[in-house]
Amino acid sequence: MQDILDEITATLSTREDRGEVAQYIPELAIVDPQQFGISVALADGRTFSAGNASDLFSIQSISKVFTLTIALGKLGDAVWSRVGREPSGDPFNSIVQLEHESGKPRNPFINAGAIAIVDAIMMGHKPRETLAEILQFVRFIANDASIGIDEKVARSELKTGDRNASLAHFMASFGRIKHPVEQVLGTYFHHCSISMTCQQLAQAGQFLVSDGVNANTGVRVVSAQRARRINSMMLMCGHYDGSGEFAYRVGLPGKSGVGGGILAIAPGKGSIAVWSPGLDKIGNSKLGTEALEMLVQKTGWSVFGH
Ligand code: GLN
Repeated sequence: MQDILDEITATLSTREDRGEVAQYIPELAIVDPQQFGISVALADGRTFSAGNASDLFSIQSISKVFTLTIALGKLGDAVWSRVGREPSGDPFNSIVQLEHESGKPRNPFINAGAIAIVDAIMMGHKPRETLAEILQFVRFIANDASIGIDEKVARSELKTGDRNASLAHFMASFGRIKHPVEQVLGTYFHHCSISMTCQQLAQAGQFLVSDGVNANTGVRVVSAQRARRINSMMLMCGHYDGSGEFAYRVGLPGKSGVGGGILAIAPGKGSIAVWSPGLDKIGNSKLGTEALEMLVQKTGWSVFGH
């Protein structure tokens, strides 16, 4: 595995077209696009890394996998009365579909869906407590108490968050947001601003590899059925209107973030975290996707066959 990761990293280091870093969040716009890191945590607990795998980056929408997991733990199937389970076919920050479906987001991974999910998690808690709960969960699944939030990124998102505020207010107009919109948005921006390394993120994804159990710690995080279902959501919706393309090229459940990270799960095989800040037009990591495509070709890990 180390050979494969080294080869991928070397091949991609010469790429000139690395995509564009996210412009709409000023703190992300200043990240150096030359960085690239990859980590694989195998089902047997061994881990392998290459490149900038121990540098922190903003996990952004990858955090939506973790908030969905928490929401399912708290609400069970009632989550699905808040959000749907279908790919949206629209950009991650789109509002159009909400008008046609009485303010119910198509899935938990588009921005509107993740905002509805965090509103659900907040039930009976102050925003600060909800945030602490999310952070504690991420630290637990990654088995790393040092994981934190980048306040600068959170403030930067808040300042330029008009689109997310519109989504939240629009859903609220249908009675779908139960807490004050400002509190929900603040919590959402903060969980998107969790910083992690590829190594930490690959660990955090481990429970989705082995039927809900983290192979390293031996701790069950969710039931096998729930792990399978979260993987299916990642496969169908994890890359927004690029989910079909990602399934075609990579063939694994995956979740991207505009920080340039991708968490991909090869069930029974390994959890892969890759980071390269440059994005394609849809907002998914350009070299990150290429790296995963190469990895799957070399390992035969696609869920669709070798
Ligand atoms: N925090 C980002 C936003 O709300 C998350 C988007 C993403 O990673 N695709 O716009």
